[in-house]
Amino acid sequence: MPYRLLADATVLLHMAFVAFVVLGGLLVFRWPKLAWIHLPAAAWGAWVECAGIVCPLTPLENWFRARGGQAAYTTDFIEHYLMPVLYPATLSRELQWALGGIVLLVNAGVYFVLLRRRARGLATPAGRAANGDGDPGTVARRRKRGHNPLMRAMLLDSPGRPLRLADIPRPTPGAGELLLQVKACAVCRTDLHVVDGELPDPPLPLIPGHEIVGVVVEAGPDATRFAPGTRVGVPWLGWTCGTCRLCLAGAENLCAAARFTGYTRNGGYAEYTVADQRYCFALPDSYDDEHAAPLLCAGLIGHRAYRMASEHAFGGGVARLGLYGFGAAAHLLAQVAASEGRSVYAFTRPDDTPAQAHARGLGAVWAGGSDHAPPEPLDAAILFAPVGALVPAALRVVRPGGVVVCAGIHMSDIPAFPYSLLWQERVVRSVANLTREDGEAFLEHAARTPLRVDVVPYRLEDANAALDDLREGRVQGAAVLVPQP
Ligand SMILES: [Zn+2]
Ligand SMILES: [Zn+2]
Repeated sequence: MPYRLLADATVLLHMAFVAFVVLGGLLVFRWPKLAWIHLPAAAWGAWVECAGIVCPLTPLENWFRARGGQAAYTTDFIEHYLMPVLYPATLSRELQWALGGIVLLVNAGVYFVLLRRRARGLATPAGRAANGDGDPGTVARRRKRGHNPLMRAMLLDSPGRPLRLADIPRPTPGAGELLLQVKACAVCRTDLHVVDGELPDPPLPLIPGHEIVGVVVEAGPDATRFAPGTRVGVPWLGWTCGTCRLCLAGAENLCAAARFTGYTRNGGYAEYTVADQRYCFALPDSYDDEHAAPLLCAGLIGHRAYRMASEHAFGGGVARLGLYGFGAAAHLLAQVAASEGRSVYAFTRPDDTPAQAHARGLGAVWAGGSDHAPPEPLDAAILFAPVGALVPAALRVVRPGGVVVCAGIHMSDIPAFPYSLLWQERVVRSVANLTREDGEAFLEHAARTPLRVDVVPYRLEDANAALDDLREGRVQGAAVLVPQP
């Protein structure tokens, strides 16, 4: 008796497997990861039919049946409904070929639709959200978007994976928004934190990039601030509520509802992007597209950190400024600080002599590894490297009343350190995002005092290489993506 039940159970299992092989693709629409099980199962089903072999479940059934001492199945349901489906009386080679063909055709159709959806970046509800801003115009825009010409974009499908080049429809500008043709987009360390999954919950798929130089090609309704043809810059701060206490107090960089370009809104690793005109900047003509792009984050976040250092240093201001991590931001800020008569001390990875030479070439009075002490105590230090251990290291070389400013959005944990390092009114503070006021102030400065912007250009499709080079410290200055027309 138990063998008969086991034989019946095997038939049911067999049937369920056949159903999964033929129709499982429909489940993949809902749970995409199921494809990893379904594709091998479908391949097996097609192989069994086309090769005319017998599924190993069949001998198992027969064995159970033989042990059960009879040839017939016990329940009417299985005998009358399932057996003829699994084993048609007329099962011939031709019929097997036809069945195998049906499995292949059904699944080819299902996966074709799935892949096409994915290529458009619409595979998941989150993906659909990433393509609009959730405002009332989004649905109408999405409908229109189906007819939009395509553009190339680098998509983040899931953190920790390389970006994927895809052709997706150009976005359509909503009220107060601009459609920009991207001329250049600099690659920031923050992009690495987004791509590596160190910043929480980006809507996926996502187009990273928040140092965008673009030309207005189309203005949405009520977007009259920049005429078509104008070149503008798009920074990290993409939208704020404008009504919360922080926004009203001039601290829109801290707005809890803020949206960020290339993180919670799509960014500039693409041929086109959409931006809210109120958060775009006019750019000084003295910088071409490639050289203007790094100003939009490296430049202006560095400038905000510099302002914070000056405001918080107690007892004599900032004459000696340390910069930890001599990358895109520090190479611009070193020039700004030197042009204002301050002495710049550059700290690089230990033994990174090319970066130290780069710093000296840009006006640093001293350059060395972050494990070295400068010859004099500093008034302030700004940390661009995302290394928590640099906080106590910097406190150690800052004078009483001095400041340590952490300018990155993410940092490894700060190790415990003795209170004596903080004692005597030293200050540790972070700098978050930017306000539009910061942007205007820095771009005005950059127009007045020409900055040497060192860039390493990459093609759009080489964004992964640019990110890797940045991660490994191989970029001298700023990496910039330049989409070719
Ligand atoms: Zn940035
Ligand atoms: Zn707000």
